[in-house]
Amino acid sequence: MANEPLQQQLALLYQLQTRDQELLSVQQKLQDIPRQIEQLEAEVQRYEKEIAAKSAELAETEKEQRSKNAELEMNTVQREKYKDEQRTVTSNEAYTALERQIEFLDQQDEEAEDVILTLMEESDRLKEELAGLEVEINKEKEKTAAETEQLQQELRTLEVEKDEKLKQRKAFLPEIDKGLRDEYHRWMKARLAIQSRTARAKAGFIALAEDGTCGSCRIAIQPQTLKEAQKFLKPVYCSSCKRLLYVEPAASDVAFP
Ligand SMILES: [Zn+2]
Repeated sequence: MANEPLQQQLALLYQLQTRDQELLSVQQKLQDIPRQIEQLEAEVQRYEKEIAAKSAELAETEKEQRSKNAELEMNTVQREKYKDEQRTVTSNEAYTALERQIEFLDQQDEEAEDVILTLMEESDRLKEELAGLEVEINKEKEKTAAETEQLQQELRTLEVEKDEKLKQRKAFLPEIDKGLRDEYHRWMKARLAIQSRTARAKAGFIALAEDGTCGSCRIAIQPQTLKEAQKFLKPVYCSSCKRLLYVEPAASDVAFP
């Protein structure tokens, strides 16, 4: 004859475990969401960095353009000076020397104008790329704002859900035998300390055993052990994974789990 109190206790403990697993999964999501928000923001920051780098490149190009233009202006002044001198010199040699200086300035101007042209093309290219990036960053910002809002909404819902579950848990707990409860808590605490976050939610102290198989490790339970567990006289543990077994009662009219 089955011992109903223990059987009932196992059923309650199994319920508690199911609730706790749900709670763990809620907590997991609560931890994941801020990270998801950070990732969204990081994408915007990536665009901001790219824009800052290109803007700096453009500023540098424009600075070079200005310096080349200043060179042209200085050459113009210098050229005027040489031309003035040409009007006052008396020897042919001196005149030719000045002519050569002027030719040299003309050549310098030509080179500077080539450079300016290249720099202008470079500026245009950078401006076009910056305009493209502005469009993209604005799209990204809109997307981030919408998704962040959604995630924050989810966060608030989960917080409420978590509080509700914790309240239910607190009310549910006294129904379970203290010894069994303490054992469960010790086991869970040890598990949570060593397992990765994803594995935590799956960590179980009590395992359902259906069709003579441990629901946790999937190993067939020895007939002797199964028979013992079905008496519900004392806690029986899986010989393989050491979980507390909550076996399907031998009588089919008893609720399970
Ligand atoms: Zn097992």
